[in-house]
Amino acid sequence: MRSMLVIVLLYLAAACNSDAKKGSAAQRAASAGGTSTGFDGNAAYNYAKAQFDFGPRVPGTPAAKQAGDWIIRQMRARADTVIVQSFTHTTADGKRLPLRNILARFRPELPERVLYVTHWDSRPISESAATEAEKKLPVPGANDGASGVGLFVALGDVLKKTKPNVGVDLLFTDGEDYGEFGPPQVDVLIGSKYFAAHLPSPGYKPLYGVLWDMIGDKDLRIPYEMISFQQAPEVVSRVWQTAADLGYGDVFVQESGGEVIDDHVPLLQAGLRVIDVIDLTYAPHHHTPQDTMDKISAKSLGIVGDVATALVTRK
Ligand SMILES: [Zn+2]
Repeated sequence: MRSMLVIVLLYLAAACNSDAKKGSAAQRAASAGGTSTGFDGNAAYNYAKAQFDFGPRVPGTPAAKQAGDWIIRQMRARADTVIVQSFTHTTADGKRLPLRNILARFRPELPERVLYVTHWDSRPISESAATEAEKKLPVPGANDGASGVGLFVALGDVLKKTKPNVGVDLLFTDGEDYGEFGPPQVDVLIGSKYFAAHLPSPGYKPLYGVLWDMIGDKDLRIPYEMISFQQAPEVVSRVWQTAADLGYGDVFVQESGGEVIDDHVPLLQAGLRVIDVIDLTYAPHHHTPQDTMDKISAKSLGIVGDVATALVTRK
């Protein structure tokens, strides 16, 4: 993903109503190792670590093959249906990349659905690293890749036990972070563009969608992403209000966080109301070889997992 602007802080009254009392109760529950929704942040961390331990999931590498196979196995053990979209993308410089989007579906019979998205690939270069030698290294992708995978596998545990009240589709996209974000964008957001052009059914139209990206930072802070805020404000309100109701108003802060080019953009362009939930404050480690497991925490994954779970299990 690529942040386009850094914007002034802007408090928006619209969705602003955090409940401090509920908050402290939820946070006590979270710090005691449990959460209010049944989502297990420690499990999410361990799944993220399993994904991380394959090595950088750069498309076309053996690590990507193994990590993708692992995701498919995990989701086949949890979801009702798993669809794998395998395709080849030819890059601007003529390289042929084998890619896979993985779609895990819960309650596939329900017409009313929620789409969650996360990318599972990791970036081949570390352009934000401090030294020229490090810039050539792939990003290990603990937060930028593995955190979302950990979230989704742990969410699969919950949804297997507790049927969601809507159909839920967990989409793992490939090739999000491969090339240049530009402008122009070249060889990025590849999997989400492919999904937007190859929806799972002709009239596929989820009620709403959420892209969860870089959501494991120990020092988690998630302001609004402004393309989302402009194009699907009702989804932003729903997610931030759910977070506030759970007592996470200090993490899901009601401030502008700038615009980010990310996997939600091709989906919005295809008419799906998908927003980006992303921690833009990961800057020191973002796209560097220091994006490692010590930078993320079970607690942060637990907070985001609670919000993701509450959205689809509570009415
Ligand atoms: Zn990235």
